[in-house]
Amino acid sequence: MSSSLTTTKDNSIKTNNLENTPTPNLWISWNENVQHRYSELMDITSEEQLRDVIAKSKSVRVFGNRYSSSDISAGTDTLINIEQYNKIVNINPKNKEITVQPGITLENLILEAQNQGWCIPCLPDIDKVTIGGALATGTHGTNGFILAKYVSKFRMVLADGTVKDYTDADAEMDALRLSLGTLGVFSAITFK
Ligand SMILES: Cc1cc2nc3c(=O)[nH]c(=O)nc-3n(C[C@H](O)[C@H](O)[C@H](O)COP(=O)(O)OP(=O)(O)OC[C@H]3O[C@@H](n4cnc5c(N)ncnc54)[C@H](O)[C@@H]3O)c2cc1C
Repeated sequence: MSSSLTTTKDNSIKTNNLENTPTPNLWISWNENVQHRYSELMDITSEEQLRDVIAKSKSVRVFGNRYSSSDISAGTDTLINIEQYNKIVNINPKNKEITVQPGITLENLILEAQNQGWCIPCLPDIDKVTIGGALATGTHGTNGFILAKYVSKFRMVLADGTVKDYTDADAEMDALRLSLGTLGVFSAITFK
C-alpha cells in the first residue's frame, strides 16, 4: 500500500468560491450553506490511495465538487477528495461501455461518450458534478430516471479497504444505484 497520501498544504480544501480565503480545516459546500470542521483531508488520485486511507481511518466521508446542498458529508474527521481521481479507465466499443473513475465530471463523461457516437439519455441541470457525487445522491434529469440507471458495473472500496466488483447479476446492484455513500466508495463506474 502507498504511504504517499498527503493532506493539502495548509490543511484546507481548495474551494472554488473561497479560494483566496482558506480557513484551516473547514469544509464548505459550493453555496456555503453547509460548513463543518474536519481533522484530516486526503486528496486521492488512485485506487491504492483510496483503499489505504479507508483501511486506516475510523470513519470517512467522500466528496467531489461539493454541489450537494445537504450535510451528507458533515461531521466526519477524515474527508476524502475524489476530484483528481478522474480518469477514463476503459472504453469498450463492442459493448458500448465506458468505465470512469468517480471524480470525472459529468461534462467530461458526456464529451467522451459523444466522441464515441453515444449519449447519456438522462442529464441533470448542471454538468460540473462529479460522477461519484451524482450517483451517490440519486441525481436524476431530463428523462425522469436517475443517472445510475445507465450504470452496468460498480467497483467499490468497502469499509475494510478491500475492493469488490458488482454487475447487474448481483442483488446489491439496485441498492448501489442510490447508496448515499453508505455502502462503500465508488472506485470505478461503468456506463452502458
Ligand atoms: C445548481 C445545481 C443544479 C442541480 N441540478 C440537479 C438536477 O437537475 N437533478 C438532480 O438530481 N440533482 C441536481 N443537483 C444535485 C447534484 O447533482 C448533487 O448534489 C450531486 O451530489 C453533486 O455532485 P458533487 O460532485 O458536487 O457531489 P458532492 O456534493 O461533492 O458529494 C455528494 C455526496 O456524494 C457521496 N459521494 C461522493 N463521491 C462518492 C464516491 N466516489 N463514492 C461514494 N459516495 C460518494 C458523498 O456522500 C458526498 O457527500 C444540482 C445541484 C446544483 C448545485
